[in-house]
Amino acid sequence: MELQVADVIQWMEKSNDSIQANKDYLSSLDRAIGDGDHGINMARGFQEVVSKLTTSDYQTVSDVLKDVSMTLLSKVGGASGPLFGTAFLKMSTTVKGMEKVDANQLGEAFQEALNGIKLRGKANKGDKTLVDVWEPVVEFFKSSDSIDANALAEVAKQAMESTKELEARRGRAAYLKERSIGHLDPGSVSSYYIFTALSEVLQK
Ligand code: ADP
Ligand code: MG
Ligand code: MG
Repeated sequence: MELQVADVIQWMEKSNDSIQANKDYLSSLDRAIGDGDHGINMARGFQEVVSKLTTSDYQTVSDVLKDVSMTLLSKVGGASGPLFGTAFLKMSTTVKGMEKVDANQLGEAFQEALNGIKLRGKANKGDKTLVDVWEPVVEFFKSSDSIDANALAEVAKQAMESTKELEARRGRAAYLKERSIGHLDPGSVSSYYIFTALSEVLQK
């Protein structure tokens, strides 16, 4: 497994495709336990990401990831902009200067991204946030020498589904306490789309 500049751009394009296609669904999930804007936030941010990436020239994977981060940080408000922005910034600095990354390096980049998300959001696994998807994905990368794309998609799917039964302890959903149980966490669903998109790029 190896990701080059063009693969990372394709990863972001595929992420954007699912986010645009599921924009209303993401907002409806957020209407149930938040303020109903998650689809709008993510769709705006990832559309801008794709516009930026497809009109720029890149030599390194890290520069692509840095532009993803800067775009999300500047174009997406709310909780998710800074959280996803931090995640991609940490990934960028972890693979700084690299023209391509292998499975181990990508795993390390995801580990740093997860650390950044947890620090920024003060969230841990089980708090019903996107940490509940990112952490199992990091564990999956750590536990495998070669990455099976289908297995990656399955790990992300199960992790996303696991948020339904959790009671929220961070973010707007935490105000609902036990009434947040029975609903998927919106940020976990958008994270699931991002990892599914990655699995599709790795499939090729
Ligand atoms: P906002 O809640 O500001 O409207 P969004 O609706 O775009 O922002 O994003 C909500 C998502 O952000 C949640 O579903 C959750 O996954 C994530 N989130 C919110 N607060 C935190 C936090 N403190 N730590 C980690 N993730 C969080
Ligand atoms: Mg919201
Ligand atoms: Mg909001």
